Amino acid sequence: MLNACIISTGTELLLGSTWDSNCIFLSQRLNDLGIQVIARFTVGDNREQMKNAFENALKLADLVICTGGLGPTLDDLTKEIACEVAGCQMELVEEEVRRLQDYFSRRKRKMPEANLKQAMFPPEAKILKNLKGTAPGMYLKKNGKVLVLLPGPPREMQAMYLQEVETQLKKDFDLDNKHSTSCTIKVIGPGESQVDEMLIDIINNSHNYSLALLAIDGEVHIKVTAEGENTEHSKQILQEISQRIENTMGRYVFGHDEESLAGIIAELLVKTGKRLAVAESCSGGLLARMITDLSGSSRYFWGSVTSYSNEAKVKILGVKEETLENYGAVSRETAEEMARGILKSSGCDYSLAITGIAGPDGGTREKPVGLVYIALAAQEDCKVKEMHFAGDREAIRMLSAKTALDMLRRHLQYGGV
Ligand code: ATP
Ligand code: MG
Repeated sequence: MLNACIISTGTELLLGSTWDSNCIFLSQRLNDLGIQVIARFTVGDNREQMKNAFENALKLADLVICTGGLGPTLDDLTKEIACEVAGCQMELVEEEVRRLQDYFSRRKRKMPEANLKQAMFPPEAKILKNLKGTAPGMYLKKNGKVLVLLPGPPREMQAMYLQEVETQLKKDFDLDNKHSTSCTIKVIGPGESQVDEMLIDIINNSHNYSLALLAIDGEVHIKVTAEGENTEHSKQILQEISQRIENTMGRYVFGHDEESLAGIIAELLVKTGKRLAVAESCSGGLLARMITDLSGSSRYFWGSVTSYSNEAKVKILGVKEETLENYGAVSRETAEEMARGILKSSGCDYSLAITGIAGPDGGTREKPVGLVYIALAAQEDCKVKEMHFAGDREAIRMLSAKTALDMLRRHLQYGGV
């Protein structure tokens, strides 16, 4: 199996002030491609340490990917050191100089001299375009190894990897003809151990496939990898096992691979031309955030009211004072009136409402932390779910928003909740 090392550079990573998300992203993508990540190095912006890391990584692995330090400043040393270790000379690339000059003149700024180093590359390297920033990356094949340099900012790094690097790696390492193939089935509702129990027969009888469960933000992702005699055979096994998993998990399955719950809902709403409005209390706008994380959400999302106080619930959503007095703000009745209120004032087809106790304070014996009511209203109909979530404030808010989305997803897909 092909193997890889990842080098993350940046003193802020060693200080613990920046979370090394680049490394996580690359590890996942490479493993998905069938390239095993065997070591990860984290080094500061330090010449000696970087040199060491490149030397070791190139000794250990077929592929070395490094992120960070491609900027114009003095502490941006990566390219220079990588080229030194790989034994290549850098030259000024005219086209890159012009691109940088263009970049600055469009912003009516003079290009600092220091930026010129971003236009230096060894002639044998492929220059990787940076569509989201100024620092280009580099892809170098040398002595049977591949060395890739990517920028540090995660948005730039990810875009460059997805647009330029992955296809090139597939080509260079002939990865399309590898035997194993995998997919991810995403479920929401049951926890990880419950999914494990439901799939026990499939897990226990595996010989030419494997299952890995990953619990993440209230979802469980089931990653299936099939390893047949050839790619065709692997695909056949994958298809068969995936089908069995989907039959077992039924309506808990909401998506596959890169799909997200909010994305699935977006598709369903757009397809049917329906619109959604939201009223949130304890989730404090998180549900709206999840929906609007997708661009184009204004096509189906009317908006949200974060009605945190009782006053806002009454004045904006039309929740009755008696309801609040008799049942409290965290109650089935209030959730229903919130949903009906926003549905009416927005004129949407659907509305979701959340009210609950996110903690850590505010819980009582009757209404403990984690008690959340989630309502889904559609015309005359309104359904309310009572949930008892475990976890800290952040987890309870996240689970509330996810469950609300899932209620709508189930309604749109199956008519139930
Ligand atoms: P720039 O041109 O912006 O300087 P660069 O390629 O030189 O880009 P760095 O200076 O190393 O990149 O990092 C820029 C920013 O990117 C850092 O301040 C940090 O916020 C983020 N970053 C760098 N490396 C990582 C990483 N491994 N994981 C997450 N974020 C990172
Ligand atoms: Mg930098």
